Amino acid sequence: MRNISVKMKITVWITLLMTVLFALLLAFMVFISNSVIRQTAMKQLAGTVQEKITQIQVSDGKIQFAENFLFYKNGVSILVYSKKESLLAGQLPVSFTTAEPFQNGQLRTVRSDQTSYLVLDLWIPDGWENGFWMRGLMEAPESGQTVRNLVTVAFIALPFFIFLTAFGGYGILRRAFRPLSSITRTAENINEAKDLSRRIGLPPGKNEFSRLAAVIDALFERLEKSFEGEKQFTADASHELRTPVSIIKGACEYAEKYEETPEERRETISMIHRQANKMSDLISQLLNITRLDQGVDALYMEEIDLGALIKKICRERTYDQNCLGLNLQDNVTVKGDAALLTRLAENLIDNAFKYGLRETTPASEVLQISVFQEGEEALLRVQDYGPGIPQEHQEKIWQRFYQVDASRGQATGAGLGLAMVRQIAQLHGGYMTLESTEGKGSCFTLHLPFSEKKKSF
Ligand code: ADP
Repeated sequence: MRNISVKMKITVWITLLMTVLFALLLAFMVFISNSVIRQTAMKQLAGTVQEKITQIQVSDGKIQFAENFLFYKNGVSILVYSKKESLLAGQLPVSFTTAEPFQNGQLRTVRSDQTSYLVLDLWIPDGWENGFWMRGLMEAPESGQTVRNLVTVAFIALPFFIFLTAFGGYGILRRAFRPLSSITRTAENINEAKDLSRRIGLPPGKNEFSRLAAVIDALFERLEKSFEGEKQFTADASHELRTPVSIIKGACEYAEKYEETPEERRETISMIHRQANKMSDLISQLLNITRLDQGVDALYMEEIDLGALIKKICRERTYDQNCLGLNLQDNVTVKGDAALLTRLAENLIDNAFKYGLRETTPASEVLQISVFQEGEEALLRVQDYGPGIPQEHQEKIWQRFYQVDASRGQATGAGLGLAMVRQIAQLHGGYMTLESTEGKGSCFTLHLPFSEKKKSF
C-alpha cells in the first residue's frame, strides 16, 4: 500500500466512494418508487370504495345498487357482504382465498395464494343493529418490475460511471500533481548533477504548488549564494595564506642554499617573522569571522556607553593623539557586546589612520570621531580627510577580501576588516553607512538602536 502513489490512492478512494454513493442512491430510488406506487394504489382503492358507497342505498334489510353500478373499476373489485359475512354481490378474485375478517375503515395488505391484496372494508349501517359490509379489493402493485428496470439501468450505467470517475479523477489528479512531479524532477536533477543553479521555474500563481515551487526556488537561490560565498571565502582565504607561506618557503630555501652574512640572516629572519605575524593576524581574523557567522548566540549583550567605549579605546591604543579629534556626547547608550563593538570601532579607526591620513593633512583636518544620538539611533562616526573611496568601490568594500588597491594589500591587510564591521553592526540590529568623496575623505557611520539607560536612584 505504501508504494502506491497518492494519485492512485485518491482515485481508488473516490471511485469506491462514488460506487457506494451510487448504490445508496439506487436503493433510495427503489424505496421511493415503491412507496409512491403503493400510495397511488391505496388512494385509488380508497377513492373507488368511497365513490361506490354513494351509489348504493339500504333500507329495511335490503340493498339497492345504482343503475350503472360497476363491481369492478380501476382494478378494484367491489364486494358486498351481509352482516353475517356471506357474499351478496360482486365477484371475488380467484386467488383471494383467505377468509379475511372485516375491519371497518382499515386499509391493509393481505397475502393470499402468493398474491398480495390491498383490502378496505366499510360498514354500511341499516338501522341500529343491521347493516352490510362493502369490501374493496385490489391486487397490491408489484414493485419487482420497477426494481428490475432500475437495476438493469444501474448495471448498464455503473461501468460507465466507474470508468468516468476513475479515469476522469485520475486525469484531473495527474494534471493537478504535475507541478509536484516537476518539483521532484528538478530536485533530483539538482541532487544528481550537483548543480545548484537550476530552478523549478513554475509560472507564479496562487495555488499551493506554485507557492511551494517559489519557496523551493528561493531556497535554492539562498543555498547557491551561500554555497558560492563559502567557496569564494575558502578560495580567498587559502590564497591569502598561500602568499606569506610562499615568501617564508622561498626565504628558507634561499637561506639553506646560500651562505648568508649575519646581516642577511637577520633580514631573512625578520621577513619570516613579519610574514608569520601576517598569517597569525589573518588566521585570527578568519576565526573571528567564523565565530560571527554563528550568530547572536555567541554575543554577550550589555548596556554600553558608546562615548566611554571610544575614550577607553583611545587610551589603550597607541594612536597619534595629535591626529584625533573627539566629539563624544554623554549617555549615548546601546545594547551590545563590548568586545565586538570595540573590534568594530578599532577597525574603523585603524582604517582611518591607515588610509585616511595624507602627508599634507593640515592640523585642522585631523581624524574626527563623534558619538551622538539622532532620533532613535545611537551613532558612531569616524571621519577622515584622506583620499576617499571612488564611487565604484563604495559598495564592494564591505565584501570579504575586497581591497580598493589590492597592490597595497601586503602592507595593509586582507580586506576582511570592513566585512567584519558590517557583520557586527548587523548582529546588533544596526547597519553601516559610508559617505566618501574622492580627494576629500571618507565618513563611516555606525547606526545602532538607541537604548535608554536605566536610571538608578
Ligand atoms: P583591509 O584594511 O584589511 O584592506 P578593510 O576591509 O578594512 O580591509 O578595508 C577594505 C578596503 O577599503 C581597504 O583595502 C581600503 O582600500 C578601503 N578603505 C577602508 N577604509 C578606508 C578609508 N578610511 N579611506 C580610504 N579607503 C578605505
